[in-house]
Parts: sequence; structure tokens; C-alpha cells
Amino acid sequence: MSDLDEQEKLVLDSVTRFLERHVRPVASKLEHEDAYPHEIVARMKEMGLFGAIIPQEFGGLGLRPSTYARIIELISEEWMSVSGILNSHLIMARIVDKMGTPTQRARFLPQFATGELRGGLALTEPDCGTDLQAIRTVARRDGDDYIINGTKTWISNGIEGSCFALLVKTNPAAEPRHHGMAMFIAEKGPGFTVSRKLEKLGYKGIDSAELVFTDYRVPADRLIGGVEGKGLACAIAGLELGRVNVAARGVGVAKRALDEAVRYSQQRKTFGKFIHQHQAIALKLADMAVRVEAARLLTEKAAHALDRGDRSDYEAGMAKLFATEAAVENSLEAMRIHGGYGYSKEFVVERLYRDAPLLVIGEGTNEIQRLVIAKRLIEKNSI
Ligand SMILES: Cc1cc2nc3c(=O)[nH]c(=O)nc-3n(C[C@H](O)[C@H](O)[C@H](O)COP(=O)(O)OP(=O)(O)OC[C@H]3O[C@@H](n4cnc5c(N)ncnc54)[C@H](O)[C@@H]3O)c2cc1C
Repeated sequence: MSDLDEQEKLVLDSVTRFLERHVRPVASKLEHEDAYPHEIVARMKEMGLFGAIIPQEFGGLGLRPSTYARIIELISEEWMSVSGILNSHLIMARIVDKMGTPTQRARFLPQFATGELRGGLALTEPDCGTDLQAIRTVARRDGDDYIINGTKTWISNGIEGSCFALLVKTNPAAEPRHHGMAMFIAEKGPGFTVSRKLEKLGYKGIDSAELVFTDYRVPADRLIGGVEGKGLACAIAGLELGRVNVAARGVGVAKRALDEAVRYSQQRKTFGKFIHQHQAIALKLADMAVRVEAARLLTEKAAHALDRGDRSDYEAGMAKLFATEAAVENSLEAMRIHGGYGYSKEFVVERLYRDAPLLVIGEGTNEIQRLVIAKRLIEKNSI
């Protein structure tokens, strides 16, 4: 923690205490019930975490992305869903901060920072996720408003949140396609409905929903950046932070899986020995530990690039790819090390095993991360 200033150390200490006191004791119960953690959210509001990366001039904590990534790692060690409640909201906030007009920043960032207005990012549609430029939600100008029609799916915080960064097309015929895209700050109101809650393998507690827009009228001053054609750039600005966050979640889940395995392997005996004394288990523990360390280093490198404002898609792609695969591998290894107990709902490893696969899908699938890394590799080394 040597590179942290005093304020950042205080924030991380208070997050650690909050997790020990208020998240650890209830995480498994709430997760198994798929219950939204209202009390946890209320405490995160009090702590100012919904403003973690929002500049102080707008009432946020003004933390660097690298410090924020450490917070996400700590939260994900306890319960990954809680990190999603925070991160989807902060992706929206970052888009408004980086791409919004001065009026939009002054109006929305203070409300986002207190958590009074919470929400997330609405990109994905039933027919497309990776190919964002194929979206079909359309916004049509009508006087001082736009009228929006379409459907978004898998939207995190879709039920409990009330405000979303909404990706649309203002000109579906445009070529290249992104010239016809825009993003709006969309608050719930007439014409904006939640059609259903989506049931999931893991990542429970946080609400994932389908949102339907039927002649939803939004004032033109909610068009982020004030001009059409910036929708894809807005999404990319948000996903830069999102990728580092997902990498940090991967580190947290992989680390928790390692911790659980290290502890259990010193409690369980077979053939007269603790199981860590069997070489087959020792080798697994070593590989798990290496994955955690490597994932953390890659994530820190990507987060520091974001701190500096550097282009970070190469670093973030590597961090996201490696750390999320580490989470998947470590959660499976932890389950194997726990034997039958790993399959029991009484042990946390079954949750890690159900949560980890989401990380390889969200914020750009790992297939896409590989393509991004390879493309940049060639650009950097073109002959
Ligand atoms: C729990 C959960 C929460 C989510 N939260 C949000 C949210 O808050 N907001 C939001 O907008 N979305 C959210 N999503 C959606 C998520 O971002 C998408 O699922 C993801 O982007 C993948 O899109 P898709 O599911 O349409 O898969 P597809 O795009 O249909 O991809 C299917 C498969 O094809 C592969 N593929 C696609 N194109 C290529 C290519 N060019 N080359 C190689 N392989 C390719 C993919 O890697 C994948 O393996 C969430 C999803 C889940 C499950």
C-alpha cells in the first residue's frame, strides 16, 4: 500500500472494517436467497462509495482508478455481487464525467456521488451484446425531446436503480454505424418499464433486468455530450473503467478461493496427513497463488495506466483476460480441494464457482479481449 496517500489508506481501512462487520456475516444467506442487500447499500452510501471515483468538486471521494480497483478486489473477496452494485453505477458516472457537458456534470455527478441517484449502464439488447453497433433501440428527435423505443437486457441494477446511461441509435441507417449512435442519461419515468427480473447461475442479490422503452420521452439536454454520434465513444469511456473493475473482481474471487483452499487443506486429513502434505494438493495451491499474484500485478498495471489517463486497452485487456480466467480456475481448484464439501452450500467455494464465470463474459468477453490484445500487439510492432 506504499503508493497510497493518507486519504486512500483511510478509505481502504474503512472498507475492510465495513466488509468484516456488515458483509461477511450476511453474504451467504442473502446470496442463497437472491435478496438485494439494502442495508449494505445504505452503508455504502454513508461511506461515500457511490462517489468513489467522482471528482471531489462534485462531492465524490475523487479516488484514483487504481485505489478504486483495490476496493473492488476487497469487496469481491467477500461477495462479488456488491461490487457490481457499485461498479455499474460508477461506469455511468464516469461516462458523464468524461463525456458529459459542463451542465450535465454539474447536475448529475453530485447526485450520483451521494447515491441519491443510482443506476448503471444499458448497452446489451436481446439480439446483441458484443456487436454493440447492431443495437436496435432508436431515439427520434421530437422538438425539445427525443422519443425512445427498444429493449435492453441483462441490465445490472435494473430494478433498484433509477437512472441509466442508455445506448441508442439516432440514425439506424448511418455508415459507419457508430456515427448514428448516441447515449442518454435516462431516468425512470413514463414509457420506461422493467419487464422482468432475470434468474442467474450466480451473481445473486444484485438485480439483472430487462428494460423496455415504449415512446419514452427524454429531454434533449440528456444527450451525453450534447451531440449525436458519440454513443460508442461514451460506451468505450465507461468500459475502460469496467474492464479494470472486472479484472479486480477476478483477483478478489481468485484470492478468496486460494484462501479457502489454503485453510481447508490444513484442516482436512486423509491417509494420516493434512491434505496440503499430499504433493497433488500442494501443486494446486502453488499454481493458485501464482495466478493471484500475476492477476493482481496485471490489474495494477492497467489501473495505473488509467490513473495517468493513458490509453489502456492493451493492459486492461490482458488484466481482464488473465484475472478472470484465474478466478474461474481457482474457484474450480478450491472446489476440488474441498472434495464433497466444495459442493455444499455450507461452504463459500460453491458461490465462488458460480460467480466466477460471469467475469469471462461481462465488459467484453474474453474472446474479444484476446482480439483486442492481438490487434494492439500488431499495431505496436508493425513492420
Ligand atoms: C449477469 C450479467 C450482468 C450483465 N450486466 C450488464 C449490464 O449492466 N449492462 C449491459 O449493457 N450488459 C450487461 N450484461 C451483458 C453482457 O455484457 C453481454 O452478455 C456480453 O457483452 C456478451 O454479449 P452476448 O451475451 O450478446 O453474447 P454474444 O455477443 O452473442 O457472443 C456469444 C459468443 O460469441 C463470441 N463472439 C462474439 N463476437 C465475436 C467475435 N467477433 N470474435 C470472436 N468471438 C465472438 C463471444 O465471445 C461469445 O463467446 C450482463 C450479462 C450478464 C450475464
